[in-house]
Amino acid sequence: MRQGTDYISEKQLEPTPGVLYIVGTPIGNLEDFSPRARNLLSKVSIIACEDTRHSGQLFKKFKIKASLVSFHKYNFHSRIPKLLDALKRGDTLALVSDAGLPSVSDPGEELVAASRDVGNKVICIPGPCAAMTALVSSGLPTQRFCFEGFLPSKPTHRNSLLKTISKEKRTTILYEAPHRLLRLLRELSVLCGEERPIQVARELTKKHEEQIGPTIGQALKYFKENKPRGEFTIVLGGAPPEELLQKSDEELIEEMQKLISNGVSINFAAKELASKTGYSKNYLYALMH
Ligand code: SAM
Repeated sequence: MRQGTDYISEKQLEPTPGVLYIVGTPIGNLEDFSPRARNLLSKVSIIACEDTRHSGQLFKKFKIKASLVSFHKYNFHSRIPKLLDALKRGDTLALVSDAGLPSVSDPGEELVAASRDVGNKVICIPGPCAAMTALVSSGLPTQRFCFEGFLPSKPTHRNSLLKTISKEKRTTILYEAPHRLLRLLRELSVLCGEERPIQVARELTKKHEEQIGPTIGQALKYFKENKPRGEFTIVLGGAPPEELLQKSDEELIEEMQKLISNGVSINFAAKELASKTGYSKNYLYALMH
């Protein structure tokens, strides 16, 4: 156990009236439904669900008997005041989505914001999230990343977003429906090139989980031969630094000399050029010796 980690006892798991609980549910594997989430859901009086029938089936398996109310993208405006009233009355309230973490490409954000606006506490009972699960198993850089979720389908908005994504230096995470996966991979291959690293995560946490990559070209070839089925999360490697590999050693030395002639040290010049081109500082420094 890491030093300094504080663990709390189960006694603190009684839901507090007036608190909105955001609860993560499995993205495929029921074993990922945490004891804390199950305990909390079995004790609250109301559970707001993206789809009451879908969540009802899950809750039946775990003998969770709260009263369910629907909360989805078509009714959230009218539902929010009612749920806030319930919190005010002292009901205990949890929000779940069909799978994973509410608010991540799922309803929730507006309810959380409205709850905070009226001074209610919001507590997340964390659980699986397809984006994070795909990211950490992709082998692509995780230190800095961005999440785009589902891309819009309208061509103008979609194309401009795809162009921005293709130039993004950080790892990008996307969600995509199976029948649109090939289209997305084709678009990415045109804009990012076939060699750009990618991992297409399929059916995470489930029996037929797999990751397809390591380049856009290879993923495209695979899915042309194997019809995309199931759920997909795409982890796209960031764009390489623009000028990397486009400069010869002679050009780099010339740029270093230009900087040095302005009066800066070799060390400083190497650092500057490294951040501009993506070459390592040590490599540039060594070139000058
Ligand atoms: N809130 C959810 C979360 O925390 O992951 C995401 C909800 S979003 C409406 C659903 C999309 O997430 C799917 O269309 C798919 O792109 C991705 N997804 C969900 N479950 C997945 C799984 N088991 N494997 C791969 N991708 C998954």
